[in-house]
Amino acid sequence: MIEGGCNCGAVRYRAEGDPIVVAQCHCTNCRRQSGSAFSVNLLFKGAAVSHDGELSVYEDKDTFSGNAVLRKFCGRCGSPIFSEPTDGKGLLIVKAGTLDDPAPFVPTVSVWTSTALPWVVLPEGQYAFEKNA
Ligand SMILES: [Zn+2]
Ligand SMILES: [Zn+2]
Repeated sequence: MIEGGCNCGAVRYRAEGDPIVVAQCHCTNCRRQSGSAFSVNLLFKGAAVSHDGELSVYEDKDTFSGNAVLRKFCGRCGSPIFSEPTDGKGLLIVKAGTLDDPAPFVPTVSVWTSTALPWVVLPEGQYAFEKNA
């Protein structure tokens, strides 16, 4: 069981099973949303993830695919928790930095390397995609 939560403790979540993929995303939306150089995202089937506590939602319509992404975060402390694509595939992204123990989840893929910051060094042997995978 994978568990995590926000900075203030108001939101806690758990995920069953292993993520489908762990990816670094260097897109500008992830950069702004995370307040960092890139996001580390764990992709799950939505049904595998549950949470307690209230999530605030921002409907991010400025996406490359044109499908909105629901950015779900703790309205109290602002920690980004989930990103939920609205493309009907039923997938949910968990923001790796909110895991209780992120260390085991090594990203094997980088996406949107076309907008990666010039000083970011991608791990050797990682799959890299200039845009989306
Ligand atoms: Zn919080
Ligand atoms: Zn992104």
